[in-house]
Amino acid sequence: MTKHEDSAMDAGNGRAMPVHAPGGLTPAQRVLLLGSRLLAGVSDAAVLPWLTQAPVRVLARGETLITLGTVHNTLYVLLSGELSVWLHADSGPLVPIQSAGNEKSTDARKEVARILPGDSVGEQSLIDGQKPNAWAIAEQESQVLAVPADMVWQSMQEEPKIALNLLRVLSARVRNANAGLSEAMLHQQRLAQDAETDVLTGLHNRRWMDRTYPRTLRRHQSPARPASLLMIDIDHFKRVNDEHGHTVGDLVLCHAARCIEITLRPGDLCARYGGEEFCVLLPEVDAAMATRIAQRICAAVFAAPFGLSSGDALAVSVSIGVAGWDQQSPLGALIEAADAALYQAKRQGRNRVVNALD
Ligand code: GH3
Ligand code: MG
Ligand code: MG
Repeated sequence: MTKHEDSAMDAGNGRAMPVHAPGGLTPAQRVLLLGSRLLAGVSDAAVLPWLTQAPVRVLARGETLITLGTVHNTLYVLLSGELSVWLHADSGPLVPIQSAGNEKSTDARKEVARILPGDSVGEQSLIDGQKPNAWAIAEQESQVLAVPADMVWQSMQEEPKIALNLLRVLSARVRNANAGLSEAMLHQQRLAQDAETDVLTGLHNRRWMDRTYPRTLRRHQSPARPASLLMIDIDHFKRVNDEHGHTVGDLVLCHAARCIEITLRPGDLCARYGGEEFCVLLPEVDAAMATRIAQRICAAVFAAPFGLSSGDALAVSVSIGVAGWDQQSPLGALIEAADAALYQAKRQGRNRVVNALD
């Protein structure tokens, strides 16, 4: 075996891979190679060793060309067929792949790129000498020109244009990776947002409350500033469901949520507490002012009856319990105080506001 044929040993599984004799490029493959992004504008002379000495490797469908974590010291230019590039996937769609022996691999991998004729793989490890962080696998029977690292370096010294082209190839790859990264971050953000949003009303949910309210209260501890909590409950909501059905009940819930939301300032922290109950934390607001805000909400909901499809108006009202924060009590105590006030509002006849101190 020649030195270069020797390099055709598959580092991943140790099997010898079919190799065409160096210089076995067809005229069409030569044209493809010289027109590739890596060699664009490079003189034939500078890459003569690539054309005459580098071996061509033939890959069967499903065969691994580059194995994650395994040094290969080779730059591969795809001459025909198609390669896919895979990362370890610990999230997202997991796709088991066929390995060279056609037995199903148990490795779950995530495809990140397709390599088409004229494209190259293995440049990054060539530049930084690190082990590859991905697999390259033949999607169909493929041929690659396996250019040993020392041959690439030698050509680069003779023809700096190759280095420039390589930089461009790597730059495109970094851009793609960055685009994928920001997409993944956006996706992550959306997931986090979804997890804290109530799907019915679009308001924040309990999970968001649990994260946001304690933090807001802490911020109001030093220097000591007021904050208040409203517990809002739709009156006789069970009747709405019983008399008009659950779907109308849902719409009435959303209607009430909008009425409450538009009465608040942007900095007020409104959430669906559960069922037909809403909770609002009012930063910088003392109990007296919170009572006035609650009265405004109560009046706004009552002033906006829900329009039934029959054309009739369905009166909606809420009861609200108000509790001012004492700058010390934990959130749970504040909620309990507002809840007790809400209970009083219900007992006193509903469609009203009761302050915990009343
Ligand atoms: P009160 O004035 O004392 O608050 O009476 P109420 O009927 O509003 O209170 P109750 O706790 O007896 O009933 C609340 C009802 O709200 C029962 C439950 O089925 C309904 N409910 C809770 N969540 C939803 C929802 O997402 N959609 C609909 N349509 N109904 C809901
Ligand atoms: Mg309730
Ligand atoms: Mg209710």
